[in-house]
Amino acid sequence: MSIPADTKSYDAGTMIFRQGDAGDLAYMINSGRVEVFSYGNAARVVGPGEVFGEMALIDGRPRTASARTLEACVLLPISRDVVSKRMQKADPLIRLLLKQVLGRLRDLHPAAAESTTETRSAPGLTQQQVAVELNMATDLRSALSHDALDLHFQPIVTLPNNRLAGFEALARWKRPDVGFVPPPHFIGVAEETGLIMPLGRWVLVRACQALKRLQRRHRRVADGDTALFMSVNMSAHQLYAEGEVQQLLDIVESTGINPKRLKLEITESVLMDDPSLAERAITTLRETGIRIAIDDFGTGYSSLNYLHRFPLDSLKVDRSFVAPLPGDGAGLRIVSAILSLARALGLVTIAEGVEEVEQLTCLAKLNCDYAQGFLISRPLPETEIVEWMTPQPARRRLPPRAVPG
Ligand code: C2E
Ligand code: CA
Ligand code: CA
Repeated sequence: MSIPADTKSYDAGTMIFRQGDAGDLAYMINSGRVEVFSYGNAARVVGPGEVFGEMALIDGRPRTASARTLEACVLLPISRDVVSKRMQKADPLIRLLLKQVLGRLRDLHPAAAESTTETRSAPGLTQQQVAVELNMATDLRSALSHDALDLHFQPIVTLPNNRLAGFEALARWKRPDVGFVPPPHFIGVAEETGLIMPLGRWVLVRACQALKRLQRRHRRVADGDTALFMSVNMSAHQLYAEGEVQQLLDIVESTGINPKRLKLEITESVLMDDPSLAERAITTLRETGIRIAIDDFGTGYSSLNYLHRFPLDSLKVDRSFVAPLPGDGAGLRIVSAILSLARALGLVTIAEGVEEVEQLTCLAKLNCDYAQGFLISRPLPETEIVEWMTPQPARRRLPPRAVPG
C-alpha cells in the first residue's frame, strides 16, 4: 500500500498531545510505537495498525491522557470530520452505547481509554478495512485537489437510426502506485467520507465544459440540428445535503450550458431514502430546465408510485434486462412492459449495456428511444470521443456504427 500524502513522520520522543488538550485528531500508527500515559496510571504502548487519541473525537471532551512517540513514527491523522460522518451513519442506539461505554472507560482507566486496538467508529468493518479506506480517502482527496481525476464519456444514440444524441460522463481514477480503481469502489469511499460533494462538483464542471466543446464539434462535423445532451451521475448525498443543489445550479449557470441539455442520473433507492426531500430537490432542479433520469431502473427498490410523484424525464433500463435480449420470451416481455410503462408516463427510455447487434435491433423494434453500451462505444476520454465523432467512411461500413448527426 502506498503511504498517503497525509501521513506525518515524528521523531522519537515527540509529544503528540498532552492530557487536558482539546482533541481534534485521532491517529492510526503506520509504523513505530507510541506511549499513552496519564498521571497516576500505568502507561500503555500502542504499535502499527492501532489507533490512539480517538476518545476526544467521539465525545468532544479534553484529552484524558498524553501521547509520546517511543521511536520514529509515521502516523495517519484521522480528523473529527471523518469520524463524525461515520458516527452519523451508525445506528443511534449504537452511538449512545458507544458513548456510555467510552465514558465509563475514561473514568476507570484514562490511559487505556485514549489507546485502543479496535476502531470503534465504523461498525461492521475490520481494522484493516478501515485503514485501507482511510488511505484511499486520503489519496482521493489529494487527487481531487491536484486535478488528477479523469472524466470519460460514453455515447448515447437514438433508435432506430443510431444517431449520436448525447453522452454519459463517468469518473475515472488512476491511483498512484495502485493503478485504475473501479468507480463503484472509489465512489463508495467518496460517499462515506463526504468527498462525494467536491467530487460531484468537479464532475459537473468538467462535464458541462466538455458538453460545450462537443456540441460545437457536433455542429461542425455533422451539421447537427439537435443539440447533444450530457448525463451526469448524482449520489444521494448530493441531492440531500443542505445547499448542495444550489451549488450544482450555480455550476451549471457559470459554465453557460443550456440546462435543458443536462440530465442528472439518480437511482431509485436515492429517491426512496427521503421522498419528500427528494421531491423538493428534484423540483428545484427541474424548474431550471435540468432533466432527471432514473438510473439502473428495475434493480432497486421498485415502488412504482414514485414514477409519477417525481417530475422525471427519462428512465434507464438496467443492463441486466438488456443482456438476455432477444431471448426466448420472458426477458423480452419484461423489457417490453418496462418500455410501455415508461411511455404511458411520458418518460424517455434509454437502454444500458447494449453489447450485441441483436439486442440493438430488438430494442429498436420495441420502440426504445435511446441505446448506450460497448457495442456503440466504450466510455472514452474527450480526445478519443472527438475522433469517434469524426465521420470515417471505413468505420461507417461496420454495422451498426452510430453516425454522428
Ligand atoms: P452507471 O451509472 O450504471 O454507469 C454505467 C456503467 O456501465 C459504467 O461503469 C460503464 O462503463 C458500464 N457500461 C457501459 N456500457 C456497458 C456495456 O455494454 N457492458 C457492460 N458490462 N458495462 C457497460 P463504470 O464507469 O465502471 O461506472 C460504474 C458506476 O460508478 C456507475 O454506474 C455509477 O454508478 C458510478 N459512477 C461513475 N462515475 C460516477 C460519478 O461521476 N458520480 C457518481 N455519483 N457515480 C459515478
Ligand atoms: Ca449512470
Ligand atoms: Ca446505470
